[in-house]
Amino acid sequence: MTAIFTATILGSPRIGPNRELKKAVEAYWSGRLGADAVATVGKQLREQTWTALRDAGLDSIPVGTFSYYDHVLDTAAMLGALPDRVAGIKNELDRYFASARGTDTVAPLEMTKWFDTNYHYLVPEISPSTTFTLDPSKILAELDEALALGIPARPVVVGPVTFLLLSKAVGSDAPLLDRLDELLPLYAELLGRLAAAGADWVQIDEPALVADRTPEEIEAAKRAYDLLSADPSRPAILVASYFGSLGDALPALASTGVEGLSVDVVAGSDSLASVPELTRKHVVAGVVDGRNIWRTDLDAALASLGTLLGSAGSLAVSTSCSLLHVPYTLDAETGLDKALRSWLAFGTEKVREVVTLGTALTSGRESVEDDFALARAAASTRRTDPRLRDATVRARLDALSASDPGRSPAAQRREAQSALDLPPLPTTTIGSYPQTTQIRVARAALRRGEIGEAEYLDRMRAEIADVVALQEKLDLDVLVHGEPERNDMVQYFAEQLDGFFATDNGWVQSYGSRCVRPPILYGDVRRPNPMTVDWITYAQSLTGRPVKGMLTGPVTILAWSFVRDDQPLADSANQVSLAIRDETVDLQGAGIRIVQVDEPALRELLPLRAADQPAYLDWSVGAFRLATSGVADSTQIHTHLCYSEFGEVIAAIARLDADVTSIEAARSHMEVLGDLNAVGFDLGVGPGVYDIHSPRVPSVGEIAASLREALKAVPVERLWVNPDCGLKTRGKAEVEASLRNLVEAARQVRAEL
Ligand code: GLN
Ligand code: ZN
Repeated sequence: MTAIFTATILGSPRIGPNRELKKAVEAYWSGRLGADAVATVGKQLREQTWTALRDAGLDSIPVGTFSYYDHVLDTAAMLGALPDRVAGIKNELDRYFASARGTDTVAPLEMTKWFDTNYHYLVPEISPSTTFTLDPSKILAELDEALALGIPARPVVVGPVTFLLLSKAVGSDAPLLDRLDELLPLYAELLGRLAAAGADWVQIDEPALVADRTPEEIEAAKRAYDLLSADPSRPAILVASYFGSLGDALPALASTGVEGLSVDVVAGSDSLASVPELTRKHVVAGVVDGRNIWRTDLDAALASLGTLLGSAGSLAVSTSCSLLHVPYTLDAETGLDKALRSWLAFGTEKVREVVTLGTALTSGRESVEDDFALARAAASTRRTDPRLRDATVRARLDALSASDPGRSPAAQRREAQSALDLPPLPTTTIGSYPQTTQIRVARAALRRGEIGEAEYLDRMRAEIADVVALQEKLDLDVLVHGEPERNDMVQYFAEQLDGFFATDNGWVQSYGSRCVRPPILYGDVRRPNPMTVDWITYAQSLTGRPVKGMLTGPVTILAWSFVRDDQPLADSANQVSLAIRDETVDLQGAGIRIVQVDEPALRELLPLRAADQPAYLDWSVGAFRLATSGVADSTQIHTHLCYSEFGEVIAAIARLDADVTSIEAARSHMEVLGDLNAVGFDLGVGPGVYDIHSPRVPSVGEIAASLREALKAVPVERLWVNPDCGLKTRGKAEVEASLRNLVEAARQVRAEL
């Protein structure tokens, strides 16, 4: 009989407490560090991670969630499914990184969001010529390493069903799940190898089963685990789910011979009691939220563990998902006040909570009563902290939602905005211009105290003046200030709003070596002062052409923050909306006639299950409208959306009711325009006419051709001309050349009208 464990987590962060791995791989990419040195950094990080988890008291520790870039890419590598185009690259590590990042000659894999998180994985490409083969060297090596350190290691791999459902079929329309039978023997072999190497449990992640799945897909999953569990020479199998409810997949998995199942008790609502087979399983209960940073209510968590106990053969305490999604530790935060600190739990603190709950479950809570008392005390200070409730904000919101008529009909606004006197096919950009070395140097110097605030402001103004002059020279119609003062489009606002806290070191991996530091929204949101007015009015003072004010929308601000768990997200969104609304009104008061409110994350927060989507779209559209309906008809509201397939949210885009929507549509902007027409969209639209994610300079001819195409779908009065996203990641020279061609293309097509 396999040993039953009681306290675990589903996975660990890997970028390093001080982003050691980021620094190492970036040094490798630039040739400053050798492969051996990178490997050493990886090994040290794994050892640190595992020994800390063991010392904290976990009795089963995930091994294999380390990655140089991405765990889905690791799975593709393990299954021989890297794209054919990298096959010529002899060095294994370089081949791996080429799949992730591309090279001069090889395009990278696409990247997309890992479920509804802010982590992005690489999308494996599977073609009819893909021949799956097993290379378990990475997971076996890490298992050996862990066992040598005496770690109670539980190897973790992405499961075959999730792997296929997350991959992209190329060169064939057949569903990829048809290829499951090719993978199962490889997984069976893998399990055998892991058992032989000393693993008694293996965790197979199948998060794809928490989204809506067809009966056939659920049947395929059942078949997979029937087959994998039939092999006698295998370790015990824990099928891990996270990010929501398993729904119909729960009884299907429970009916197979796997020994363990993990369920997300925080994000999901599965009723375990209704699945009798679970009384013969080891249930790993994710009661500690792995995705947010709030301290767990230990009393409530223990109570729900108590309830689960009766439905499970045996029970272990766990985080709801991998700790990949939260920062390492509160110890690295110096700026937190005592109260706020006591409300939070980052990775290390969450592990402690798991252990405390595990102890309470197995040996009674007496020995950990102090921890329970501390959690209770923190919860009670949080409930009563004055920062959590701002009566003025709440009263204003109530009054507004009762009385706000929204904006006038679009036609009336169009009329009022004709005073802008723009030419047909107006040209503009999305907001940011290249983040130059001068900008970075100035920001670093300010942070280190080498220059004062006044000097910093001067340097940023100089950048703005350059960008305005460039746009005038290029003859763009609607100008922007270029966003040099913004470190990040969410953090910049969070730092200025009451209710948000920006961490010192709360880094979370976003993709590959890229990390973000999401702000923490903990209290009611108030805008003590205007946030952007000085910058935009400065830019406007330099030119007679209209300068667009540039704001981040409420949904995106929430999507890229850690959010409150003590009120509905919709309520938090509306509070942010109020602050943005005040900013739009102040910009208008300062003479700014166009304001863009970016919502690139609108699609990101869309719930995984269709049944939950309409409610989300209602409140998110409502929040955007609240943010943008405070201005006069004559003020033109723009929005910008990107990073996604918009199919599912296209109707919501129309309901945003922005006067002009610029939209990333590099793959096929014609399709987006058709989709928008299909939902009756009749406002201004700027389908990106070139892809800013590539350094290539588009020619006048190709941009003009795109515009002619677009004019078949959209009347000339509604069409805008712009790149598909902000320009901050691009170089100055290519931006100038591209925009010159964009303006020239608009001019040519105008002449044909
Ligand atoms: N205004 C922002 C910029 O141009 C928009 C960024 C985005 O689309 N993510 O950088
Ligand atoms: Zn964008």
